[in-house]
Amino acid sequence: MQPDEELFTRQLPTDRFREQTDPVLQLEKINVNFDGFQALTDLSLQIGVGELRCVIGPNGAGKTTLMDVITGKTRPQSGRALYDQSVDLTTLDPIAIARQGIGRKFQKPTVFEALTVLENLELAMKGDKSVWASEQADRISEPLRLLRLEGERHRPAGLLSHGQKQFLEIGMLLVQEPHLLLLDEPAAGMTDAETEYTAELFRTLAGQHSLMVVEHDMGFVETIADHVTVLHQGRVLAEGSLREVQANEQVIEVYLGR
Ligand code: ADP
Ligand code: MG
Repeated sequence: MQPDEELFTRQLPTDRFREQTDPVLQLEKINVNFDGFQALTDLSLQIGVGELRCVIGPNGAGKTTLMDVITGKTRPQSGRALYDQSVDLTTLDPIAIARQGIGRKFQKPTVFEALTVLENLELAMKGDKSVWASEQADRISEPLRLLRLEGERHRPAGLLSHGQKQFLEIGMLLVQEPHLLLLDEPAAGMTDAETEYTAELFRTLAGQHSLMVVEHDMGFVETIADHVTVLHQGRVLAEGSLREVQANEQVIEVYLGR
Protein backbone atom coordinates (compact mmCIF):
# COMPACT_ATOMS: atom_id res chain seq x y z
CA MET A 1 0.00 0.00 0.00
CA GLN A 2 1.21 3.47 -0.87
CA PRO A 3 -0.26 6.56 0.75
CA ASP A 4 -2.39 8.59 -1.58
CA GLU A 5 0.00 11.53 -1.98
CA GLU A 6 -2.43 13.99 -3.48
CA LEU A 7 -5.14 13.26 -0.95
CA PHE A 8 -2.86 13.66 2.03
CA THR A 9 -1.24 16.84 0.83
CA ARG A 10 -4.63 18.38 0.31
CA GLN A 11 -5.97 17.34 3.69
CA LEU A 12 -2.99 17.96 5.93
CA PRO A 13 -3.99 20.03 8.95
CA THR A 14 -3.79 23.73 8.39
CA ASP A 15 -1.68 26.08 10.49
CA ARG A 16 -4.87 27.37 12.03
CA PHE A 17 -5.28 24.04 13.76
CA ARG A 18 -1.62 23.59 14.53
CA GLU A 19 -1.61 26.79 16.51
CA GLN A 20 -4.97 26.37 18.10
CA THR A 21 -4.49 26.09 21.84
CA ASP A 22 -8.03 25.51 23.08
CA PRO A 23 -7.94 22.25 24.99
CA VAL A 24 -10.34 19.50 23.95
CA LEU A 25 -9.34 17.47 26.99
CA GLN A 26 -7.92 18.53 30.34
CA LEU A 27 -7.04 15.80 32.78
CA GLU A 28 -6.44 17.21 36.24
CA LYS A 29 -4.74 15.19 38.97
CA ILE A 30 -6.32 11.87 38.10
CA ASN A 31 -5.79 9.08 40.63
CA VAL A 32 -6.77 5.48 39.96
CA ASN A 33 -6.33 2.78 42.56
CA PHE A 34 -7.15 -0.91 41.96
CA ASP A 35 -7.49 -2.65 45.33
CA GLY A 36 -4.46 -0.93 46.77
CA PHE A 37 -2.45 -0.78 43.53
CA GLN A 38 -1.93 2.79 42.39
CA ALA A 39 -2.28 2.67 38.57
CA LEU A 40 -2.41 6.45 37.95
CA THR A 41 -1.02 9.10 40.30
CA ASP A 42 -1.89 12.81 40.08
CA LEU A 43 -1.93 12.52 36.33
CA SER A 44 -2.47 15.82 34.55
CA LEU A 45 -2.46 16.21 30.80
CA GLN A 46 -3.96 18.54 28.20
CA ILE A 47 -4.77 17.87 24.57
CA GLY A 48 -5.50 20.72 22.18
CA VAL A 49 -8.24 20.84 19.56
CA GLY A 50 -7.01 19.10 16.42
CA GLU A 51 -3.86 17.85 18.11
CA LEU A 52 -2.28 14.46 17.50
CA ARG A 53 -0.82 13.33 20.80
CA CYS A 54 1.26 10.21 21.24
CA VAL A 55 1.40 8.52 24.61
CA ILE A 56 4.31 6.17 25.11
CA GLY A 57 5.80 4.30 28.06
CA PRO A 58 6.73 0.82 29.23
CA ASN A 59 4.19 -1.95 29.75
CA GLY A 60 2.10 -1.36 32.83
CA ALA A 61 2.74 2.41 32.78
CA GLY A 62 -1.00 3.11 32.82
CA LYS A 63 -1.64 4.00 29.17
CA THR A 64 -4.71 1.80 28.73
CA THR A 65 -6.00 2.78 32.18
CA LEU A 66 -5.77 6.40 31.07
CA MET A 67 -8.04 5.62 28.11
CA ASP A 68 -10.37 3.70 30.43
CA VAL A 69 -10.73 6.83 32.56
CA ILE A 70 -11.45 9.07 29.56
CA THR A 71 -14.10 6.67 28.21
CA GLY A 72 -15.76 6.06 31.58
CA LYS A 73 -14.78 2.41 31.83
CA THR A 74 -12.80 3.14 34.98
CA ARG A 75 -13.82 5.78 37.47
CA PRO A 76 -10.90 7.54 39.14
CA GLN A 77 -10.78 7.95 42.93
CA SER A 78 -10.06 11.63 42.41
CA GLY A 79 -9.38 14.17 39.70
CA ARG A 80 -11.31 15.71 36.82
CA ALA A 81 -11.38 15.03 33.09
CA LEU A 82 -12.76 18.13 31.42
CA TYR A 83 -13.93 17.65 27.86
CA ASP A 84 -14.41 20.63 25.59
CA GLN A 85 -13.79 22.87 28.62
CA SER A 86 -17.21 22.10 30.03
CA VAL A 87 -18.12 18.46 30.75
CA ASP A 88 -16.41 16.46 33.49
CA LEU A 89 -16.18 12.99 31.95
CA THR A 90 -15.68 11.38 35.35
CA THR A 91 -19.35 12.08 36.06
CA LEU A 92 -20.67 10.35 32.90
CA ASP A 93 -21.18 6.72 31.90
CA PRO A 94 -19.50 5.22 28.80
CA ILE A 95 -22.55 5.65 26.54
CA ALA A 96 -22.96 9.31 27.45
CA ILE A 97 -19.24 9.83 26.85
CA ALA A 98 -19.43 8.24 23.40
CA ARG A 99 -22.38 10.55 22.62
CA GLN A 100 -20.21 13.51 23.51
CA GLY A 101 -18.08 12.59 20.48
CA ILE A 102 -15.32 10.47 21.96
CA GLY A 103 -14.47 7.31 20.00
CA ARG A 104 -12.10 4.57 21.04
CA LYS A 105 -10.29 1.84 19.20
CA PHE A 106 -9.16 -1.08 21.30
CA GLN A 107 -5.96 -3.00 20.70
CA LYS A 108 -7.68 -6.03 19.23
CA PRO A 109 -9.96 -5.42 16.25
CA THR A 110 -13.59 -6.04 17.20
CA VAL A 111 -15.39 -6.09 13.86
CA PHE A 112 -18.33 -8.40 13.13
CA GLU A 113 -16.68 -11.08 11.02
CA ALA A 114 -19.87 -12.50 9.45
CA LEU A 115 -21.06 -9.09 8.29
CA THR A 116 -19.74 -7.29 5.23
CA VAL A 117 -17.57 -4.21 5.44
CA LEU A 118 -20.56 -2.06 4.52
CA GLU A 119 -22.82 -3.72 7.10
CA ASN A 120 -20.21 -3.18 9.80
CA LEU A 121 -20.07 0.52 8.96
CA GLU A 122 -23.87 0.82 8.84
CA LEU A 123 -24.14 -0.88 12.20
CA ALA A 124 -21.58 1.49 13.71
CA MET A 125 -23.78 4.39 12.60
CA LYS A 126 -27.02 2.87 13.95
CA GLY A 127 -26.69 4.29 17.42
CA ASP A 128 -26.85 7.75 15.92
CA LYS A 129 -30.56 8.29 15.26
CA SER A 130 -30.00 11.77 13.90
CA VAL A 131 -28.59 10.44 10.62
CA TRP A 132 -31.01 10.39 7.70
CA ALA A 133 -30.94 7.41 5.36
CA SER A 134 -29.83 9.61 2.47
CA GLU A 135 -26.99 10.95 4.57
CA GLN A 136 -25.82 7.46 5.55
CA ALA A 137 -24.28 6.67 2.17
CA ASP A 138 -22.36 9.94 2.24
CA ARG A 139 -21.04 9.35 5.71
CA ILE A 140 -19.78 5.92 4.72
CA SER A 141 -18.20 6.73 1.38
CA GLU A 142 -15.52 9.04 2.79
CA PRO A 143 -14.17 6.59 5.42
CA LEU A 144 -14.33 3.78 2.83
CA ARG A 145 -12.13 5.80 0.52
CA LEU A 146 -9.76 7.00 3.26
CA LEU A 147 -9.31 3.47 4.57
CA ARG A 148 -8.96 1.97 1.11
CA LEU A 149 -11.79 -0.46 1.62
CA GLU A 150 -13.93 0.61 -1.34
CA GLY A 151 -13.17 -2.56 -3.24
CA GLU A 152 -13.96 -4.68 -0.19
CA ARG A 153 -17.31 -3.17 0.72
CA HIS A 154 -19.31 -6.36 0.05
CA ARG A 155 -16.77 -8.76 1.55
CA PRO A 156 -17.42 -10.36 4.93
CA ALA A 157 -15.11 -8.68 7.43
CA GLY A 158 -13.83 -12.10 8.50
CA LEU A 159 -12.08 -12.44 5.13
CA LEU A 160 -10.09 -9.20 5.47
CA SER A 161 -6.41 -9.17 6.41
CA HIS A 162 -5.57 -8.25 9.99
CA GLY A 163 -4.53 -4.77 8.90
CA GLN A 164 -7.74 -4.27 6.92
CA LYS A 165 -9.75 -5.26 9.98
CA GLN A 166 -7.90 -2.60 11.93
CA PHE A 167 -8.75 -0.08 9.20
CA LEU A 168 -12.38 -1.16 9.21
CA GLU A 169 -12.55 -0.59 12.93
CA ILE A 170 -11.13 2.90 12.47
CA GLY A 171 -13.80 3.39 9.80
CA MET A 172 -16.47 2.31 12.28
CA LEU A 173 -15.27 5.10 14.55
CA LEU A 174 -15.11 7.68 11.76
CA VAL A 175 -18.71 7.19 10.61
CA GLN A 176 -19.73 8.33 14.09
CA GLU A 177 -17.85 11.57 13.41
CA PRO A 178 -16.04 11.78 16.75
CA HIS A 179 -14.23 14.90 17.93
CA LEU A 180 -11.70 13.01 20.00
CA LEU A 181 -10.28 9.65 18.93
CA LEU A 182 -8.44 7.34 21.30
CA LEU A 183 -6.35 4.66 19.61
CA ASP A 184 -4.61 1.95 21.62
CA GLU A 185 -1.66 0.45 19.71
CA PRO A 186 -3.33 0.84 16.30
CA ALA A 187 -0.34 -0.45 14.35
CA ALA A 188 0.01 -3.68 16.33
CA GLY A 189 0.20 -6.66 13.96
CA MET A 190 0.22 -4.52 10.82
CA THR A 191 2.63 -4.94 7.95
CA ASP A 192 5.20 -2.17 7.40
CA ALA A 193 3.19 -0.81 4.50
CA GLU A 194 -0.02 -0.80 6.54
CA THR A 195 1.76 0.91 9.43
CA GLU A 196 3.06 3.56 7.07
CA TYR A 197 -0.40 4.13 5.66
CA THR A 198 -1.88 4.35 9.18
CA ALA A 199 0.63 7.07 10.03
CA GLU A 200 -0.40 9.07 6.96
CA LEU A 201 -4.04 8.51 7.80
CA PHE A 202 -3.63 9.87 11.32
CA ARG A 203 -1.91 12.96 10.00
CA THR A 204 -4.89 13.45 7.72
CA LEU A 205 -7.37 13.03 10.56
CA ALA A 206 -5.52 15.42 12.88
CA GLY A 207 -6.84 18.93 12.54
CA GLN A 208 -10.37 17.75 11.86
CA HIS A 209 -10.22 15.49 14.90
CA SER A 210 -8.14 15.39 18.06
CA LEU A 211 -6.24 12.15 18.49
CA MET A 212 -4.61 10.37 21.39
CA VAL A 213 -2.49 7.49 20.16
CA VAL A 214 -0.75 4.89 22.30
CA GLU A 215 1.95 3.17 20.31
CA HIS A 216 5.17 1.26 20.91
CA ASP A 217 6.54 1.43 17.39
CA MET A 218 8.97 4.35 17.68
CA GLY A 219 9.26 4.64 13.90
CA PHE A 220 5.53 5.17 13.80
CA VAL A 221 5.62 7.71 16.63
CA GLU A 222 8.42 9.54 14.85
CA THR A 223 6.33 9.88 11.71
CA ILE A 224 3.19 11.22 13.34
CA ALA A 225 3.92 12.93 16.62
CA ASP A 226 3.75 16.65 17.23
CA HIS A 227 3.77 16.14 20.91
CA VAL A 228 4.62 13.14 23.05
CA THR A 229 3.72 12.29 26.63
CA VAL A 230 5.78 9.62 28.38
CA LEU A 231 4.07 7.69 31.16
CA HIS A 232 5.90 5.66 33.75
CA GLN A 233 4.38 3.96 36.80
CA GLY A 234 1.17 5.92 36.44
CA ARG A 235 2.81 9.34 36.27
CA VAL A 236 3.80 11.72 33.51
CA LEU A 237 7.55 11.30 33.27
CA ALA A 238 8.16 13.72 30.41
CA GLU A 239 6.32 15.70 27.79
CA GLY A 240 7.37 17.65 24.72
CA SER A 241 8.43 17.15 21.15
CA LEU A 242 9.69 13.67 20.33
CA ARG A 243 13.21 15.06 20.15
CA GLU A 244 12.90 16.57 23.60
CA VAL A 245 11.61 13.42 25.27
CA GLN A 246 14.15 11.26 23.43
CA ALA A 247 16.91 13.39 24.96
CA ASN A 248 15.44 13.15 28.47
CA GLU A 249 17.76 11.09 30.71
CA GLN A 250 14.95 9.53 32.73
CA VAL A 251 13.06 8.54 29.58
CA ILE A 252 16.17 6.89 28.16
CA GLU A 253 16.65 5.01 31.39
CA VAL A 254 13.14 3.65 31.87
CA TYR A 255 11.93 3.29 28.30
CA LEU A 256 14.12 3.95 25.32
CA GLY A 257 17.38 2.54 26.61
CA ARG A 258 16.12 -0.97 27.13
P1 ADP B 1 -0.26 -0.07 29.88
O1 ADP B 1 -1.44 0.05 28.99
O2 ADP B 1 0.58 1.17 29.96
O3 ADP B 1 0.59 -1.26 29.56
P2 ADP B 1 -2.26 -0.56 31.93
O4 ADP B 1 -2.99 0.71 32.03
O5 ADP B 1 -2.90 -1.67 31.22
O6 ADP B 1 -0.78 -0.30 31.38
O7 ADP B 1 -1.96 -1.08 33.40
C1 ADP B 1 -1.36 -0.28 34.39
C2 ADP B 1 -1.24 -1.09 35.66
O8 ADP B 1 -2.52 -1.23 36.26
C3 ADP B 1 -0.71 -2.50 35.44
O9 ADP B 1 0.15 -2.82 36.49
C4 ADP B 1 -1.96 -3.34 35.46
O10 ADP B 1 -1.67 -4.64 35.91
C5 ADP B 1 -2.86 -2.60 36.44
N1 ADP B 1 -4.27 -2.76 36.12
C6 ADP B 1 -4.89 -2.35 34.99
N2 ADP B 1 -6.22 -2.61 35.04
C7 ADP B 1 -6.44 -3.21 36.23
C8 ADP B 1 -7.59 -3.74 36.91
N3 ADP B 1 -8.81 -3.67 36.35
N4 ADP B 1 -7.42 -4.28 38.13
C9 ADP B 1 -6.21 -4.32 38.72
N5 ADP B 1 -5.07 -3.85 38.16
C10 ADP B 1 -5.18 -3.31 36.94
MG1 MG C 1 -2.05 -1.07 27.25
